[in-house]
Amino acid sequence: MSSSDAPSNATGGAGPVSARVRVRRHADRGRYDAATVEAILDAALICHVGVVEDGQPLVLPTGFGRAGRTLYLHGAVANRSLRLALEGVCVTVTLLDGLVLARSVFTHSMNYRSVVVRGRARPVTDPAEKLAALRAITEHLVPGRWAEVRTPSPTELAATAVIALDMEECSAKVRSGPPRDEAPDRSLPVWAGEVPLHLVAGSPRRDEHVSTGIAEPPSVAATRGRFAAPGGEAGGA
Ligand SMILES: Cc1cc2nc3c(=O)[nH]c(=O)nc-3n(C[C@H](O)[C@H](O)[C@H](O)COP(=O)(O)OP(=O)(O)OC[C@H]3O[C@@H](n4cnc5c(N)ncnc54)[C@H](O)[C@@H]3O)c2cc1C
Repeated sequence: MSSSDAPSNATGGAGPVSARVRVRRHADRGRYDAATVEAILDAALICHVGVVEDGQPLVLPTGFGRAGRTLYLHGAVANRSLRLALEGVCVTVTLLDGLVLARSVFTHSMNYRSVVVRGRARPVTDPAEKLAALRAITEHLVPGRWAEVRTPSPTELAATAVIALDMEECSAKVRSGPPRDEAPDRSLPVWAGEVPLHLVAGSPRRDEHVSTGIAEPPSVAATRGRFAAPGGEAGGA
């Protein structure tokens, strides 16, 4: 490792912890501080898990949870990608914030916040950590839900595999703002700008087996608020 590759801060300093997580293309968009990385992870509902199977890449979408600097993934005990992640894994998370429409095809882009975490996962076998991991995964999707529902039975726990990935090697990449057309293109008679994109919750639909006496719980109300349509953005310009 060269001096420039030396870890600056494994928990989120100014630079990448290793050369392989240094953003090279548009390096100015690279972020490595814990606050930025964790905020992106916490805002994302899903991740993509990349592993190598028989020498070929396999990338699958799945849910996840975070506890401090550890990511947790879960699945059936026979889950192949979870098993292969113990040999090496790359977890990516993407938040798509908008489409960036430029005056030239070449300059079109997207606004986004994304995270890449690389490393080797470990199996979670300690019952207490396994339960905490499942709680983290549940709370990641719907904060407050764990306390509202039945917790896993011993049979369900035995049927569930959980792996942990320490966020030792990670990077974030963030693009925001308008198109970056070349100066000569800015006078072209072409509309250009950004189209913001948001994940918006619809109205919750009560399951038919929920008795009428059961009110909407706080976690659902909070989810509506979390994914409420942003105000003040109607209309074009
Ligand atoms: C929604 C979205 C759309 C995109 N569209 C395009 C596109 O059309 N064409 C294109 O070329 N690129 C696109 N990108 C950027 C893309 O993710 C790569 O950053 C880029 O292609 C550079 O690839 P590279 O192999 O040269 O990466 P390098 O910069 O060489 O990657 C080195 C290291 O930087 C980190 N890194 C790289 N990219 C990211 C990232 N996105 N998030 C977090 N860490 C990262 C990783 O740790 C990686 O190991 C898009 C990204 C997003 C999120």
